[in-house]
Amino acid sequence: MHVDSLLAHAGCGADTETGDLVNPIHISTTFERDSDGSYGKDYMYSRLGNPTRHELEQILTNLEGGDSCFTFASGMAAACAILQSVEAGSTVLLPHDVFHGIPKAILNTPGLSVDTRFVDYRDHRDLDDAIARKPRLVWVETPSNPMLRVTDVRMVAEKAHSVGARVVVDGTWTTPLIQRPLELGADVVFHSITKYLSGHADVLGGAVICRAGSELGQRLEQIQQLGGSVLDPFSCWLTMRSLRTLPVRLKRHCDNADAIAGVLVKHPRVSVVHFPGLPDHSGNSFIGSQMSRGGAMISFQVGELESDPAPAMKVAAATRLIRRATSLGSTESLIEHRASMEGSVTMTPQNLLRLSVGLEDPEDLIADLLQALS
Ligand SMILES: *Cc1c(COP(=O)(O)O)cnc(C)c1O
Repeated sequence: MHVDSLLAHAGCGADTETGDLVNPIHISTTFERDSDGSYGKDYMYSRLGNPTRHELEQILTNLEGGDSCFTFASGMAAACAILQSVEAGSTVLLPHDVFHGIPKAILNTPGLSVDTRFVDYRDHRDLDDAIARKPRLVWVETPSNPMLRVTDVRMVAEKAHSVGARVVVDGTWTTPLIQRPLELGADVVFHSITKYLSGHADVLGGAVICRAGSELGQRLEQIQQLGGSVLDPFSCWLTMRSLRTLPVRLKRHCDNADAIAGVLVKHPRVSVVHFPGLPDHSGNSFIGSQMSRGGAMISFQVGELESDPAPAMKVAAATRLIRRATSLGSTESLIEHRASMEGSVTMTPQNLLRLSVGLEDPEDLIADLLQALS
């Protein structure tokens, strides 16, 4: 069956006594034992396992072509679970351009004792040097946040596996409909459910999907059940509700982004547009081989001076339809001055704006950007 058909029925069709089309939410925290003391229906306590959560985890496992999935109360809870799953003292490679929460969590969470090394994965010598140090985990985010750099997942996975390292791909910006990292050689896929998967800016969640035979799966299950930052049943249910429309939403997000990037790239006040869907972007050659489309996140720089935030701030201040907020992947378009959001650790150009392209009519979005830029 095609993935669109599978998703159109996500969270539906359980065989219930009432014949509901949409499956109910299992909010019970505890489940009754049989008279002999056993748990014949498999569920005992909701932190350890919940039927609604399992339903979502099964759908995400299928979507990524994995073997197991564990959902968490936020993307960062899922990310920290992955970082906890490697032995203390391990070396973890991080890309130069990466969601700022990951290095911040490593630096500021007591007990998350891993050594980080920042690598430009596009620079093969830099990568080979880092691989020679025998990292345990190689963290990939592609396209990266906020510079939209595309990393060759097959190449990184091959090098990482040659020294026994595991590869995680943060697939938040692409979703499994645009990119399937396990097929490219990754061991684990990470998602912030908060973004496209839930898609309406009203659910905070994270997921980790593991390939068959990955030893990380067992450790992640323990961290989920014992650490306890599980995704709650209502958020699981809302996410399944959203997954039913993911294919149509994502198509519109991407079509809108293609149209907007084409206008921005010709605008005299815009010095650079970072978007893999543009023919002369460094990541464009990966469309077809690694990603099916360019996605719907665009970063662009206003004016020539990278150190001057003022012109970009003015553009963000002037949008009317596009809302000024962080985050991404929901129905309404969002614009953000990224450097000031990332704080003092930022390496993002001060004149850069990040745009999460929503589901509005593209003509209205383009008109809003043009008036804000004028
Ligand atoms: C939002 C985001 C995260 C963190 O997820 P939360 O749900 O906010 O905790 C991680 N990676 C990327 C690429 C993101 O966009």
